[in-house]
Amino acid sequence: MTATSATPEIDPAAIRRALAAWYADRGRHDLPWRQTCDPYAVLVSEVMLQQTQVERVIPYYAAWLERWPSFGALAAALPADVITAWRGLGYNRRALALHTAARRVVEVHGGELPWEPAALHALPGVGPYTAAALRCFVRGEPVPVLDTNIARVVARVLAGVARPREVPPGQLVAATRSLLPAEGAREHNLALMDLGALVCTARAPGCFECPLAAECRWWLAGQPPARTSPKSAALPFESTARYARGRIIDRLRSGPAAEDELRAMLPESHRPRLREYLAGLERDGLAVPIGSAAWALPPG
Ligand code: SF4
Repeated sequence: MTATSATPEIDPAAIRRALAAWYADRGRHDLPWRQTCDPYAVLVSEVMLQQTQVERVIPYYAAWLERWPSFGALAAALPADVITAWRGLGYNRRALALHTAARRVVEVHGGELPWEPAALHALPGVGPYTAAALRCFVRGEPVPVLDTNIARVVARVLAGVARPREVPPGQLVAATRSLLPAEGAREHNLALMDLGALVCTARAPGCFECPLAAECRWWLAGQPPARTSPKSAALPFESTARYARGRIIDRLRSGPAAEDELRAMLPESHRPRLREYLAGLERDGLAVPIGSAAWALPPG
């Protein structure tokens, strides 16, 4: 296909057809969380997939469901066991959010995920994206599920820009909604997600092999560069508070530790901030003080 400067009319039906045919052939149908519509399993997968790559999540998801196969099983677990099982996934607060959500589902909603919007959104770890994913992937509701991959595809195909942040959020949601089919929203959203992950990638979109090339405004306009400035250079991970907090939690997974030991274990630049990190972990429910100068994972 040759790119031109023409701006094509959007034909949602043509986009849906091309996408569905591509997905049938190339979609990631084998992902374990796509084999189920169980609300608990879908919630576990969605929380794990927040900020963690698919390939890394797969073994954790399987082990988690084997150990805690239901809201009830997870609700009965000790927080320390949940935090320990999360080792290696990062962003430990997600583990506690999932655990607290399970307890609330059991204690307040009789063990069933609540679908009433206020109750669903009130669950820890369930923001607008996760709520939409649950509605679509569990119940098949035709709602936009705007993860980073879908946002990128929609921004390029419909808005003709390189990056989603060039489009006002409300406009992006409306554009995504305009593509939804009346039936088959689950497969449609999964297909968009896969296209973004496998073909329409952030840095090297495979436009020559893309099923949407004939409809894509950004490609047909000759791939104009992003209008927004690139992100400022990221700090090295080892210099961030997230790194230091992760090191502390990793140590506490093996048992309680004295503050002196925790301080000595951290790189020198982080040591003056140990108290600040510990206070933050306590506020988040990820660590508790024991005695006057030692810490542990929360007991129960
Ligand atoms: S044609 Fe290129 S930019 Fe457009 S959706 Fe396909 S891969 Fe993405």
